[in-house]
Amino acid sequence: MAIEVQVLGSGSKGNTTLIKNGDTKILLDCGLNVRVIIERLKAVGITLNEISAVCITHEHTDHIASASELGDAYNIPVYANKLTAQAIKRRVGVKNVIEYGTPTDSFGIGSIDITPFAISHDAVCPVGYKFMDRDSSFLYATDLGYVNEDVMRLSQGADVVMIESNHDRNMLINGHYPQYLKERILSNKGHLSNETCAMTIQKMLERGTKSFILGHISEENNLPELAFWQTTTALDKIGASIDKDYKLVVSMQREVSERVKAK
Ligand SMILES: [Zn+2]
Ligand SMILES: [Zn+2]
Repeated sequence: MAIEVQVLGSGSKGNTTLIKNGDTKILLDCGLNVRVIIERLKAVGITLNEISAVCITHEHTDHIASASELGDAYNIPVYANKLTAQAIKRRVGVKNVIEYGTPTDSFGIGSIDITPFAISHDAVCPVGYKFMDRDSSFLYATDLGYVNEDVMRLSQGADVVMIESNHDRNMLINGHYPQYLKERILSNKGHLSNETCAMTIQKMLERGTKSFILGHISEENNLPELAFWQTTTALDKIGASIDKDYKLVVSMQREVSERVKAK
């Protein structure tokens, strides 16, 4: 049975993605508020008490806002590496946390094997994740200043990749954000631009991945259409056509994405 992915919401106001494999249902990050998570799960026919676990990428609020409600009030185990676990305990006071040691220690939840990997971002120990079952895999990487070797290595053979297409460089540079924030976003511990995202997807398609989800699209410094255009244009250049050679889904802040099957 292949892994299925559905983004419940993605962007700087909160990130949560549902990863499903039979009875194993994992929330990746819980930056949306609990009411919104419940509503959006309901829209896809799932209740919160079916959720097996929450996996955390890093301790920024847009990824952990609901950690204490989900962990302690709803008793859903929250998985994080050691440093991130300490940080989220400090920030939101959640107790029901399972620490998995270093960022590269694999672990299992139900029928899904999970390999975290380090990414470059301004958090204590930020990670992306690769989720695998017997015959499919999904790689998640948002909140990264640049695409490191681990992202490229682990994406090899992944059926679905969700990667961030955070900002349009010109919109960010000419936009109203304060200078320090612009510099933070553009730095190698910030976020990926549409351009870098598109180039990365181009390489991943050439190496065999066929389905992509664009995530963490800024509502201030980007437009979903622009992110979509940048990637499809880059893939056009290598002769790849959307829906024939690859699938591309744009995830949004305020609505549930289409469901993407990893096979
Ligand atoms: Zn974020
Ligand atoms: Zn972040």
